[in-house]
Amino acid sequence: TAAALEELVTPSVQITYTQHLIDGKFVDAASGKTFPTYDPRTGEVIAHVAEGDAEDINRAVAAARKAFDEGPWPKMTPYERSRVLLRFADLVEKHSEELAALETWDNGKPYEQAAKAELPMLVRLFHYYAGWADKIHGLTVPADGNHHVQTLHEPIGVAGQIIPWNFPLLMFAWKVGPALACGNTIVLKTAEQTPLTALYVAKLFHEAGLPPGVLNVVSGFGPTAGAALASHMDVDKLAFTGSTDTGKIVLELAAKSNLKPVTLELGGKSPFIICEDADIDKAVELAHFALFFNQGQCCCAGSRTFVHERIYDEFLEKAKARALRRTVGDPFKKGIEQGPQIDPEQFEKVLRYIRSGIESNATLECGGDKLGTKGYFIQPTVFSNVTDDMLIAQDEIFGPVQSILKFKDLDEVIKRANNTRYGLAAGVFTKNIDTANTLTRALRAGTVWVNCFDVFDAAIPFGGYKMSGIGREKGIYSLHNYLQVKAVVSPLKNP
Ligand code: ADP
Repeated sequence: TAAALEELVTPSVQITYTQHLIDGKFVDAASGKTFPTYDPRTGEVIAHVAEGDAEDINRAVAAARKAFDEGPWPKMTPYERSRVLLRFADLVEKHSEELAALETWDNGKPYEQAAKAELPMLVRLFHYYAGWADKIHGLTVPADGNHHVQTLHEPIGVAGQIIPWNFPLLMFAWKVGPALACGNTIVLKTAEQTPLTALYVAKLFHEAGLPPGVLNVVSGFGPTAGAALASHMDVDKLAFTGSTDTGKIVLELAAKSNLKPVTLELGGKSPFIICEDADIDKAVELAHFALFFNQGQCCCAGSRTFVHERIYDEFLEKAKARALRRTVGDPFKKGIEQGPQIDPEQFEKVLRYIRSGIESNATLECGGDKLGTKGYFIQPTVFSNVTDDMLIAQDEIFGPVQSILKFKDLDEVIKRANNTRYGLAAGVFTKNIDTANTLTRALRAGTVWVNCFDVFDAAIPFGGYKMSGIGREKGIYSLHNYLQVKAVVSPLKNP
């Protein structure tokens, strides 16, 4: 592990937007309060941001309500809406470098990952939903009796959206893209750890011609701003991505207030199953990527690496060697694969799980500690001899900690892979088509990646079985979250 942690790169981007964006204007918090956002490389403050509370959410919802009820957005032609999304995508492309730098600064993820993977995905996703905007339509229904029946697919209204800190821009895109394509208006609350990039792109949306009030962005904390949005009586739909515990809270708040429908994208403990016929070098690399990508801070991380007993020893040796080669350091530097964890809470939590792994007698193959003296860097860590009953095999760690488990046959690994409260994703590595077919059908997860992992095309639906969530985002499926179906019925012949 090359820990290039001294002499940090100074980000080449200005922080311009720190206020809420409500009704097309940047405004201070109603209370006048601000909160700091930090550089995870150092723990130093990088900016003070308006701190939203119930009153800011009220103002943002009022703006979104007005923009929905009075227009023009929901009443514009779908083609006009599509063009706003396309112009926005062009602006994002133009500002990609600043956005990637801002994302890395606020979040700690490698700049190359943000610039080369995430920004292009953001652009692609808005192109994708711009394409849907003018292709959303209902049905003519052949009902019994002499009636003409049609369904209108209408926007649902004001969408409340709460997003997490691990992919601030992509989570913005997954939520905002389909909601706007369908003609809704939005109040989005960013995660308190990463408020900066959403404000920047929301500003670009207005440059692209989005009418004021259609997209409002409020920064702030969960129990205050987030809870106010989830329980608001004038919000027609809630979309949430975050932890399973918080998902339960927002679902309850939605039910207790106005029964707004809720989609949830929550935690996971995804199995990655490496079968005996696998090309071991390729399997090692993919399993490494599946777990360590984004500092291990992925809800779908392949955090249970199941390896067939016949190849287990060779796999283990190579997986350990790969983790030891992983480059950790200043995420702004070229060639760095892993930056810091997001904040002290997550950092401490991951270190606690590492201690728990050691105490439960899993074998610590490498890593196991923090790295450097400042910021939230953690050594790439590999545990072997992990068994299903250990906490590290059951809980979502959300950090660079790979747990390797041994299995004997398919029936056994299917049972063990499914023996979890989560069901977000799974990975399968095999050349045998029968094995692949058996596993893809048997695994109870919203995505099964075969011989690949973390493929996130805009058209592919994403979401969880069991306690990993409710509903699907991306693809055609996300449109359903943001549409109401109205049946219109009239006699074929007037009486
Ligand atoms: P994590 O543990 O990964 O930070 P959370 O589920 O706590 O995940 O956070 C995800 C998002 O949910 C963030 O925007 C956060 O502010 C918000 N949030 C946290 N607590 C609440 C709550 N009680 N009500 C509404 N939103 C919340």
